[in-house]
Amino acid sequence: MRLYNTMTDRVEEFTPRGPDVPVTIYACGITPYDVSHLGHALVGLTYDVLGRYLRYRGFGTRYVQNVTDIDDDILKRAARDGVAWDELGRTQTERYLATMDRLNILRPDVYAKATEETEKMVEIIGGLLEDRLAYNKEGHIFFRVRADADYGKLSKYDRAEMLAIAAERGGKPNDPLKEDPLDFLLWQAAAPGEPTWPSPWGPGRPGWHIECSAMSMKYLGDTIDVHGGGTDLIFPHHESEIAQSESFSKQPFVRYWMHVGMLRYEGEKMSKSLGNLVMVPKLLETYSPDAIRLCLLSHRYRDAWDYEDAAIDEAQALADHLKAAATAAVGSTPATIDSDGFRERFIAAMDDDYNTPVVLDILRGLADQIVAGSAQGASVQQAQATLHELTDVLGLTLI
Ligand SMILES: [Zn+2]
Repeated sequence: MRLYNTMTDRVEEFTPRGPDVPVTIYACGITPYDVSHLGHALVGLTYDVLGRYLRYRGFGTRYVQNVTDIDDDILKRAARDGVAWDELGRTQTERYLATMDRLNILRPDVYAKATEETEKMVEIIGGLLEDRLAYNKEGHIFFRVRADADYGKLSKYDRAEMLAIAAERGGKPNDPLKEDPLDFLLWQAAAPGEPTWPSPWGPGRPGWHIECSAMSMKYLGDTIDVHGGGTDLIFPHHESEIAQSESFSKQPFVRYWMHVGMLRYEGEKMSKSLGNLVMVPKLLETYSPDAIRLCLLSHRYRDAWDYEDAAIDEAQALADHLKAAATAAVGSTPATIDSDGFRERFIAAMDDDYNTPVVLDILRGLADQIVAGSAQGASVQQAQATLHELTDVLGLTLI
């Protein structure tokens, strides 16, 4: 399989680490304070289908996703709504998982909660402090970016770009406690009214980036195969994950960085802060889970694209067509459908950097032939079995 790697900016041959070593995948998950939107589903679906395809091709997989269940946004929303922060996190996480279940997105092997993993974070921060790659200012621990010569190697931004984007994304470059505006928080000292966890530097809570380094290293080891998330996480989140992890373990952190393009709606990135969200539970009132999956797979995973209401209607039509083909009457005259050819082309398209738009065309073509063959009284069972086999790789249920 060939996959685009954000680190090298190239499509590369994907090789596992060994014949019996499972492919390890880590994807950055949600911050649970609101309802799941289509952008969350796209990220969940992308790694779900990647795992299904790798298993179809005979690889083992081990997949970890995290939930950032402590964060400024959760505390703010909980205060606004007068609910406990942990209760808000719990209920929204449950709603998210239930929505993903309805979309037939398989749960990760480990669904790691940041609030339960602070021990590993404290261990990494301790190591960074020892090596003077981090410093303590009044109980806040910052990563010392100047001590890390290759900070920026993933995003390829220069210092001015990094500063501008960090400021936009809550990096607080003007914090007077920082030695350098690019330094980022590893541990935040206790603030009045906020939940805290113990650490050798006093009670506090972890920074966002360290959560993913800790959970990834704890469950998947120092070096993982595929690290995912939206392209909006490349900087500063993933850049900072690399800096912390590699400075601590002295090992390469990730072999393939596989980012999912941004889903836009009404001309802007779909985001809570902009309020232009397409909610998945709302879509499920009208459209089938298969239709939603097909709609999201109708674009290349790494392209940014605009969701349009017409697209989901088209996807529903395709879902109905596939279902009609899967259940079409089987006749007795010999069928002339080249099932093996469809399978080969399906695999070639998936191997070509996960080219799902082409994959959907192939499935449509197979369904067309099954429906036509069935209408002529042909024995289409073999082709129907192939259709089931291939749609199963995409997690479609055909119901
Ligand atoms: Zn992350």
